[in-house]
Amino acid sequence: MVRTQLAERGIRDLRVLDAMRKVPRHEFIPESFWHDAYEDHPLPIGEGQTISQPYIVAAMLEYLALQSTDHVLEIGTGSGYVTALLSLLCAEVYSVERHAQLAASAESTLQRLHYRNVKIRVADGSQGWPKYAPFHAILVSAATPEMPPALFAQLHEGGRMVVPVGPSFSQQLQLIRKLAGKPEVNILEGCRFVPLVEGAVDSE
Ligand code: SAH
Repeated sequence: MVRTQLAERGIRDLRVLDAMRKVPRHEFIPESFWHDAYEDHPLPIGEGQTISQPYIVAAMLEYLALQSTDHVLEIGTGSGYVTALLSLLCAEVYSVERHAQLAASAESTLQRLHYRNVKIRVADGSQGWPKYAPFHAILVSAATPEMPPALFAQLHEGGRMVVPVGPSFSQQLQLIRKLAGKPEVNILEGCRFVPLVEGAVDSE
């Protein structure tokens, strides 16, 4: 997976490639999909949600240029796969998921695999996690028509955010930097994520 889907397609950050080699993607998906765990596409993880395609995950991590001392906010924990990668690349990971069941399952997988520098919260991630702000980097794993202002407000000066922006069927990945308090937006590649659902959380 790392050689043919990531390195040969231009992912260069050695820390990202190393983390992608280390995190066992199959542990984050249902056993019935294990035969497909390292293939080049998203997979279902329950509740109508998906674990993202490895390439787009690696690209997002590379664009964020993460440092080992960074405090990072993730929106859309899902299976916890990206949370595990962030845990290897950064100092502290704060992850928000609106589905209580997905959050609980991700938390137990991450504990079982000994990823310890991670906190998960069930909430609407479009509001960020003010208690632990500001963050050096924010990774949004769900698509939004516009970058949520509460997330930008929770970035450190000089901080970076990657977020899929656009309608539900196809979006563009954006890299947003906070420079002198203002957003500097770079449009990156096309992508397709499940929607960021704002408002009340699903606690069933
Ligand atoms: N990075 C995840 C991908 C999960 S898919 C993985 O590797 O598995 C996107 C996730 O975002 C879903 O789990 C969905 O429930 C969650 N989500 C959607 N809207 C959200 C919101 N407003 N706040 C928090 N999480 C949200």
